Amino acid sequence: MIDNERLASAIKIMLNPSRYKICEGCSSIVSIGTRICPNCHAYRYNDDEDYVVKQAEILGKSEQTSVTKDDLFT
Ligand SMILES: [Zn+2]
Repeated sequence: MIDNERLASAIKIMLNPSRYKICEGCSSIVSIGTRICPNCHAYRYNDDEDYVVKQAEILGKSEQTSVTKDDLFT
């Protein structure tokens, strides 16, 4: 099944990687202003833009990386 919403989110992130960061606990992509990860409650992040883009690519291709809609569409 193709998940268009997931792909759209991935593209949005790849276009604006500076607005996102990666949770080091669960590899979720969250908005840059997030303090505590809504998925795993970690508070350590990697905000390297290349890494964010790489994770977004993975997000667009697989089901393994989760993303929180609340963060992406606020
Ligand atoms: Zn997390």
